[in-house]
Amino acid sequence: MSVASSIADTLQELAVDPATGLTTAEAQARLARYGPNQLRGRQPKTVLQLLLAQLNDALIYVLFGAVVITAFLGEYVDAVIILVVIFVNAGLGVVQEVKAGNALEALRQLATPRALVRRDGQVREIDSAAVVPGDVLVLDAGRFVAADVRLLESANLQIEESALTGESVPATKDARAVLPAADTPLGDRCNAAFMSTLVSYGRGTGVVTATGMRTEVGKIATILDEEEASQTPLERRLHQLGKTLGQVAVGICVLMFGIGYLQGRDLLDMFLTAVSLAVASIPEGLAAIVAVVLSLGVTAMSKRHAIIRRLPAVETLGSVNVVCSDKTGTLTQNRMTVTRCFLPDAAADLAVGEGQAPELPAQADLLAQALILCSDATYADGQGTGDPTEIALLVFGDQLGLDRRQLTERNPRVGERAFESDRKLMSTLTDEAGQLRVFTKGAIDSLLPRCTHVRENGRDVPLTDAHRTAVQRATERMADQALRTLAAAYRPVDHPVPPAEMEQNLVLLGLVGMMDPPRAEVRDAIRQAAGAGITTVMITGDHRHTAFAIARDLGIAHDPGQAVTGEDVSRYPDEELHRRIADYRVFARVSPEHKVRIVRAFRARGNVVSMTGDGVNDAPSLSAADIGVAMGLSGTDVARNAADMILTDDNFATIISAIEQGRNIYNNIKKAVIFLLASNAGEVVAMIASILAGMPAPLLPTQLLWINLLTDTLPAIALGMDPGDPDVMQERPRQPRESFFAHGAGWRVATGGLLIGLLTLFAFWFGFYEHGYSPFAAAVPTAVTLYARTMAFMTIVACQLLFALTFRHPHKSIFQTGLLTNRYLAGAVVLGLGLQLLALYVPLLQRAFKLRPLDGPGWLTVIGLGLIPVLFSEIGKLVLRRRSALAAPGAAARPL
Ligand code: ATP
Repeated sequence: MSVASSIADTLQELAVDPATGLTTAEAQARLARYGPNQLRGRQPKTVLQLLLAQLNDALIYVLFGAVVITAFLGEYVDAVIILVVIFVNAGLGVVQEVKAGNALEALRQLATPRALVRRDGQVREIDSAAVVPGDVLVLDAGRFVAADVRLLESANLQIEESALTGESVPATKDARAVLPAADTPLGDRCNAAFMSTLVSYGRGTGVVTATGMRTEVGKIATILDEEEASQTPLERRLHQLGKTLGQVAVGICVLMFGIGYLQGRDLLDMFLTAVSLAVASIPEGLAAIVAVVLSLGVTAMSKRHAIIRRLPAVETLGSVNVVCSDKTGTLTQNRMTVTRCFLPDAAADLAVGEGQAPELPAQADLLAQALILCSDATYADGQGTGDPTEIALLVFGDQLGLDRRQLTERNPRVGERAFESDRKLMSTLTDEAGQLRVFTKGAIDSLLPRCTHVRENGRDVPLTDAHRTAVQRATERMADQALRTLAAAYRPVDHPVPPAEMEQNLVLLGLVGMMDPPRAEVRDAIRQAAGAGITTVMITGDHRHTAFAIARDLGIAHDPGQAVTGEDVSRYPDEELHRRIADYRVFARVSPEHKVRIVRAFRARGNVVSMTGDGVNDAPSLSAADIGVAMGLSGTDVARNAADMILTDDNFATIISAIEQGRNIYNNIKKAVIFLLASNAGEVVAMIASILAGMPAPLLPTQLLWINLLTDTLPAIALGMDPGDPDVMQERPRQPRESFFAHGAGWRVATGGLLIGLLTLFAFWFGFYEHGYSPFAAAVPTAVTLYARTMAFMTIVACQLLFALTFRHPHKSIFQTGLLTNRYLAGAVVLGLGLQLLALYVPLLQRAFKLRPLDGPGWLTVIGLGLIPVLFSEIGKLVLRRRSALAAPGAAARPL
């Protein structure tokens, strides 16, 4: 089959009837034969490759060197311990990486585009991977083409093929063309469309000729190498921080080695101690922890209907303070029902009853016919496909008792001009036995200027100012009741007018008002957002009065002065708009280009803005926002592709819940990192201080590595998986430029580290003191030194593990957060303490780590010292709580 074949030949070759499409059974058989319609990505790395990557690190090389040296000196136990630590650490790293990778892969799968196909005689939306050769694909504006197709029908179809041809101007397509040669260049194949290209305008259908790797895009291998996984700004910042701290740690270790040398200590001991301290104190795991917490977080978010497409969005979400939302479908249910109707010759608006045939005059028939013939939706047996606005119009026709099937069969469509949110109009040209008519429907303010006549008492009479006023009033009456209004017009023509000339000299037929109730959960979400310092703004294509009526109902706005139209916005110069923007909460009759200006104006005032969008032209405003949000159910692929986040339920409340989760994820990362740094600082302080003071080292190299394993891994990750603070939405949004160490976090690292270091030294000293020695004495029996080290070893682990419990909240006490509410953390602490006891009491480990059992006073001291950091931190929090209770409470929104 080729582009040089006719439609009939292609269909025959692919054995499909375009009216019904393939049957489900046939499609399944073809799927088994041709395989899924997917481009093969790169092979994932094997576990061995991941493990080797973990080991490929300068520090690990040094540790391997240490293994060789210790083994050479006959210290086999030490060599084995170092090896075990290396591999357990690397293994944990691999597990984290695999987990993070799996989570992101699952998200990628969730975000794959879907395709509209005709199967078993019905149009259905399916996973684009399930498309097979012979499927009849429906193409409409904003949708990616799911496979290579030979076009069957095209109505003003334009496709943007830059992914394939590099040409950014959309190509105009024509299904009827038969090309002279099968090897016509891709860019000139006007009767075909290709996988991964984008329908930018019009509609069409095509039969699938190739799927998966057999498509034109599949043949270009380079496209498959998707961009390298990039780091988020936070990951990058922490990676940098880790590097800097690592360099500082290495510097300190070198210094310690030098001092030890000058003090005449054993060089090899000093070397091993310095290397182990470097390993224990370098926070190499920072970026890894962030990656794990982020990926677990976004998986959790996807279960709550928010799919994150770009990881940095998670961090940004926590700073959002302005949420701009569409109205229809996001704040409202998108379940339209026509409830009012206005006819130019009727005295008043007419109520359209629910379920029963409304008693409307016969003139309403032509209005309903226009609305039906100018619609792409389908509706049968209570089931509709397409735009809910249009489905409501079909239902309206049914209520009037019109025979829709007969009507559409008698009036086949011979031309059309698609709906665009800029124009807010849509038109069709129909042919009823040679009688040609244009039908146009759309927003009354766009339609009225294009009307010259009005239909009154069965005749087309010239439109007067009196008519205009009456229509205007009727629109406002309906809009004030929060109804969405739609007007219709028609024009008899004597020749097939081209789309560009359809919408002129029209005859106005009337107006309908549709109800679209707000979503039940939205009101609470808006209130919650306000409490969290987040302002909600409505941006809609709808009428100002309709928009304001719904906004008032939802608590977004209270004063009509807070509502403006897109036209007003376009009249203000930038500076004035920036000045005024903070006063507005409702932007009505907005088209996509206004949206970009609105987003920019909010951002220019330092706000962090999230913006929703679903249409073909919404991509620029989604990119302009800090967080672009696209609709998963009703949105177009273009919008989804430009977005940072996709809502799988199209629901406003999901945005607010995503912000809440974004805040929690950021906080969790912060907790894990701060804890990690404080613990490492403790080790460094204890070691450096003792060496400087001329004492023996309080911890042996193997002990340092063990501590690193016990405290840096599980408790830190467990903190990253904290369930989240229920009160996080009572705080203000985080300032985007805020330092990671703001709000006392840096202070906690410094004081925590110092305290743990000093307590460890105290324990070490106490071990000597208990036996009547001083750590500075020249001849101390080895057993005493080992006992003192055991004291230091047990104390530092107890301090760090228990201290972890206090990191769950910067000012709530451990009892307010609940000791068992983070089961992972409780588990990690208990496991760590258990392992520590095993190290002390299992003879093999006891010997390996050179430990001595503690006596009663030793234990009491360890327990007492272990509790001190917790007490210290809790007292600090108490002071903070007291102080903030005195200051003004609440999260007053910062001015926009
Ligand atoms: P939101 O931007 O909040 O989703 P909206 O759905 O009203 O609001 P648009 O889809 O841009 O925004 O519609 C703007 C106006 O265009 C509507 O108020 C209506 O008058 C008109 N309109 C909407 N859908 C159609 C349609 N299918 N055919 C003709 N006109 C339409």
